[in-house]
Amino acid sequence: MISKSRLIYHIEGIVQGVGFRPFVYTIALRYALKGFVLNNSKGVIIEVEGFKESLDAFEEALFKELPPLARIDFWHKDTLDSKNDTIFEIHHSEESDVKSSLVLPDMSICQECLAELQDPTNRRYHYFFTNCTHCGPRYSIIQTVPYDRPYTSMHPFTMCQACQDEYTNPLNRRYHAQPISCPNCGPTLFLRAMSGELLASNEEAICKLAGLINAGHIVAMKGMGGFHLMCDATNDTTVAKLRERKHRPSKPFAVMFKTLDAIHEVCDLSVQEEEGIGSLLRPIVLVKRHKKASKLSSLIAPHIDRLGVFLPYTPLHVMLFEYLSNPIVATSANRSGEPIISEAKVLEQKLGDVVEYYLDYNREIVNSSDDSVLQYLGDKTLIMRSSRGLAPQSFRMTSTDERKILAVGAHQKNAIAIYLNHQMIVSPYIGDLDNIASHGLFEKMIESFARFYNFTPELIVGDMHPNYVSTQWAKKQSIPFLQVQHHYAHILSTMCEHQLNEPVLGIAWDGTGYGDDGTIWGGEFLLCDQNGYERVAYFEPFLLLGGDASIKEIKRILASLLWDVLGDEADIHLLNYFDSTSLKLLKQIYTKKINAPLCSSVGRLFDAVAVLCGMEENVTYDGESGLLIEALYDPVITEYYDVKIDDKIIDYKSMFSQMLHDKDPHVIASKFINTLVKILLTLKSRYDYPVVLGGGVFQNRTLMEKILQNVTQNLYFPLQLAVNDGGICVGQVYKALSK
Ligand SMILES: [Zn+2]
Ligand SMILES: [Zn+2]
Repeated sequence: MISKSRLIYHIEGIVQGVGFRPFVYTIALRYALKGFVLNNSKGVIIEVEGFKESLDAFEEALFKELPPLARIDFWHKDTLDSKNDTIFEIHHSEESDVKSSLVLPDMSICQECLAELQDPTNRRYHYFFTNCTHCGPRYSIIQTVPYDRPYTSMHPFTMCQACQDEYTNPLNRRYHAQPISCPNCGPTLFLRAMSGELLASNEEAICKLAGLINAGHIVAMKGMGGFHLMCDATNDTTVAKLRERKHRPSKPFAVMFKTLDAIHEVCDLSVQEEEGIGSLLRPIVLVKRHKKASKLSSLIAPHIDRLGVFLPYTPLHVMLFEYLSNPIVATSANRSGEPIISEAKVLEQKLGDVVEYYLDYNREIVNSSDDSVLQYLGDKTLIMRSSRGLAPQSFRMTSTDERKILAVGAHQKNAIAIYLNHQMIVSPYIGDLDNIASHGLFEKMIESFARFYNFTPELIVGDMHPNYVSTQWAKKQSIPFLQVQHHYAHILSTMCEHQLNEPVLGIAWDGTGYGDDGTIWGGEFLLCDQNGYERVAYFEPFLLLGGDASIKEIKRILASLLWDVLGDEADIHLLNYFDSTSLKLLKQIYTKKINAPLCSSVGRLFDAVAVLCGMEENVTYDGESGLLIEALYDPVITEYYDVKIDDKIIDYKSMFSQMLHDKDPHVIASKFINTLVKILLTLKSRYDYPVVLGGGVFQNRTLMEKILQNVTQNLYFPLQLAVNDGGICVGQVYKALSK
């Protein structure tokens, strides 16, 4: 006689709030198995009973047919005695049990919801808030855990009977989809003038908003994680007006297109880029523009050959494009450097002089987020901003450390991370902590994570910089505080992602970070493991004349470097960039070394090279110099500058006098990138260790492509985490987990 057996599965990972239990229910019914599935504090427990072949088929389906957003990090199974159940059920979980389930990011609209949105016979035809278990908002609407409708900003909206029926049917795609709604029971859209005057609502509001954009107005629209500023991306006058009102002379704007085909008209896309742009993540992807003219305004991304492109990602965006004539600028609505605005009254206060009309809706954005930004290196991603769709991001650690740890990150592009129950959880991008609004978001983020995960840290980890807001905040808490050197944390972050704990050669190139000798670092070769590091080589420091003033007025960096190489002979060249009085004053700073910290940053060298390549104006956004140099790079030029590397010090400064002879910006830019690669390869050849990269300089796609051409093995860089300072919090936690 063939007997039945019973199995119990313990499953951890992203298995709650993603339709995992109904999925298990469906496959259990398919193979006529009995038992139950339930959520517990760690994930999901399944008990199934039936014949062996059915159990085998069930297990195969369990791993192969996962719902789109689910992810299994850990599982374990055991055999139990038969209980002779007669049905398979979804058991309800106790509220207290689910306190540590993961808070998931917001997701873009899925194919099934999109089809319903466009189907005139569907009851959600043209319904701008349609969503299901596989898509839609999560992070932006959650107030506290468990992730259940009463604890979200959907709470004020009572489900109609039809929605209720879908919500409670385990075989329906909207079973327990917390933001479920329909035209009869969901939130309302409002189009308003900046005076607050109501102009239209719901679909009429979308239609009128599109009309205003088509007519050349600057508008704002409340999306998933906050308001976007929008305007017609083909209208020079409007884009110029937006730049002027925002005091944003050249920082590129991201452009949202209706379809991939529309993007093809402007850019060449690789297969990976196409897939990435169209993925459920719907990030902004930085791609190369065609050389030929396009209908896009030339003011969208001046002087560079890249463009940030993305597709509509909520049903509301899809609906808007039904009525738009052209691609649109869609950029986070904020005051320069501040977090994205998510409330209409803040929009009115802060951008009243920029925006002319706005589309709002009466569902609160509890947690704001920006669009994620990434680029592709072949089939690999380089993440520049980890936010909507990607964050909060979680991954399971192998550490046995039971402590609860909070990492507060660095200062620029701040993000925080927490560690608990062997999980690393990384927050969305917070921003540069340079203003009150960003400080507020930083503190709010820490509070939210404490609430989501019932989390009180036993240890805080942060940067060594005494003046960082994050450092100062950490010092005020009565909790042990561990400080980790900035560039070491960059390398640790990449090591953590790739689960490396053996010694590595870490190469950390970025803008600026506080060195353990009190000078500014940023061109570092660190021999390190999780326990510590040795600074085995670095770019010869130069004086950063006027400190931060050099970071804005980048020709000061060139002056400092040229004086180092040429002495007084440099003056004649520098008079091309300074009037004689300013040059005299600057030279005093140089000779007296007052307010002129030493700096070894590679990011700052890009600035000096950009000046020689013709970028005479001040840097107005982070990464501007790098993008300009990339635009000038010519792959046909394979030469590089001579650089001496003694034991520890990379003596590159003569490169700048050689550049004066080269004159041609294409030659200078190309030889400069080639030289950096040459330096990296020379140092690499001295050590027989895996090479680990970290730091904002590696956002430079041209540099990365050259490195990848030359180093084909044992090279690690971040693929899931931001390569810039946004990833530092993870490195900080990884240091705390050493021992
Ligand atoms: Zn959906
Ligand atoms: Zn309804």
